Amino acid sequence: MIFSYSLFETPFIAVYLLVLAFLFGSVFASFITCTAWRVVRGEDWVKGHSHCDTCGHELSTADLFPIVSYIALKGKCRYCGSKVPPRDLIFEILLGLLFAGTLALHGSVDAPVIAALALEMLLLGLSLADWDSGVIPDGFLAAILVVWIMTVGFMPDMQRYALEGLAASACAGIITAAVIAVAGKVKKAEPDFGPVKLIMCLMLFLRLKGAVIAAVAAIVLVIVFVLICKKKKKRAALAPAISIAFIVAFMLNDVLLSVVC
Ligand SMILES: [Zn+2]
Repeated sequence: MIFSYSLFETPFIAVYLLVLAFLFGSVFASFITCTAWRVVRGEDWVKGHSHCDTCGHELSTADLFPIVSYIALKGKCRYCGSKVPPRDLIFEILLGLLFAGTLALHGSVDAPVIAALALEMLLLGLSLADWDSGVIPDGFLAAILVVWIMTVGFMPDMQRYALEGLAASACAGIITAAVIAVAGKVKKAEPDFGPVKLIMCLMLFLRLKGAVIAAVAAIVLVIVFVLICKKKKKRAALAPAISIAFIVAFMLNDVLLSVVC
């Protein structure tokens, strides 16, 4: 039996679940931005304690509430008074809105939406890590595979979903690996296959229509990102562009499938 809980049974349930989704989104954003930051700096992301980047003071639980702590402390460190950049706050609000938006668009709590929310969190983490360090950490990719393994058995029309995902992953992998290898030869630089691995992991989650949307959106966004990075004289981080393209595809895939089926 496939578990599914309708969002719009009563207005109360809808409001309750959407508020809950926003709160979960902001808490997970707080966790994943911190994890990405520690992975980039080579710190222990399981045991390490959060600390102020300026004075190094360990942060207490009261300092770590997403959104609320930042506003209560007026964006400053409680111990040394130095300004805390609003980046984490922005991502806490964004992921909260994205969680609520994904749930509202999907209309029910089930395996596809749980997979989508888990992926949105992981994509935020690996995009930040790629933006800051230029590397997509393998740990995030392994976590994406774990999400696929844990949810694939609960997806509607499971066998077709799994086969289409595997086919899309293999095709996208071969094409992007070839493009990156050729680009590396032309630029006489060591090719970076991180984005290929990311695309292959993400394509597993898409039905064929979604995979086509993701491919088109990714090509457009990657070009825009490369141009932005060139202007900022920064190494082109492709993970944010690929992540946004995939999230758009996942949402449109849902809408298209509900219209077609
Ligand atoms: Zn401080």
